[in-house]
Amino acid sequence: MIPKSHPRYESLIMRERIVKGMKDGVVHLTGLIAHGRGEAFDYLIGEKTQDFADYASMAAASHLKIASKPVISVNGNAAMLSGKDIVRLAEETGAKIEVNLFHRSKERIKKIVEMLEKFGGGNILGLEGNARIEGLQHDRAICSYDGIYTADVVFVPLEDGDRCEALKKMGKIVITVDLNPLSRTARNADVTIVDNIIRAIPNILKKYKEVRNPEKIIKEWDNKKNLQKALNFICERLKNFY
Ligand code: ATP
Ligand code: MG
Repeated sequence: MIPKSHPRYESLIMRERIVKGMKDGVVHLTGLIAHGRGEAFDYLIGEKTQDFADYASMAAASHLKIASKPVISVNGNAAMLSGKDIVRLAEETGAKIEVNLFHRSKERIKKIVEMLEKFGGGNILGLEGNARIEGLQHDRAICSYDGIYTADVVFVPLEDGDRCEALKKMGKIVITVDLNPLSRTARNADVTIVDNIIRAIPNILKKYKEVRNPEKIIKEWDNKKNLQKALNFICERLKNFY
């Protein structure tokens, strides 16, 4: 048990969850590495939702609001850290959930689907794997026809850069959550939320309930400019750190 008074309580709880996910066969071994990289960037942004992330969550909520076929793509790390919140967001937005794994295994998909069902999710896609993301080789191209393949807006937190790029080439609007503002995913997505997924998903839900002028927000949105704001924030913060 980690005492609540521990100064790094939240970070340690996340680690525990990821490790449990790996032991339970939900998180892939490489998910541990991905999480570690995320932690480093979370430190740099002060482990808080900063203005640039808040604004991006608003843009993400706006896209979800006007989407005709939104899909949320879930992997092992996302399920372990934010499974419950993702189910809630899907309910509120009418988005479908697809379990889609970079290192695909039917067994792992099944476990994640069951986990999301336990949180109240229904009709979760992923196991059928009856379509392919164009331009990708091997199993990482496999997706669901009723999910990602025919979606107009795809919300893919913690995605790989290559797949993000392939989704863009298919004409999708791609929303992502990535703590690394320099990653290929961050650069290729239409909306990049530079924040920890555990803070980002509840924030998108909040914005979804609040947003009244989604078209205007989307029109004004500039992802590169917002990513630059994230980098500027980190630079300024470090310049005056001690
Ligand atoms: P890319 O392929 O996009 O260039 P990468 O290869 O560096 O990125 P991946 O392993 O493909 O990274 O994806 C993991 C990404 O998810 C990392 O950029 C990491 O910062 C981010 N990440 C990990 N954990 C979290 C988290 N809890 N919240 C938000 N982002 C996270
Ligand atoms: Mg990658």
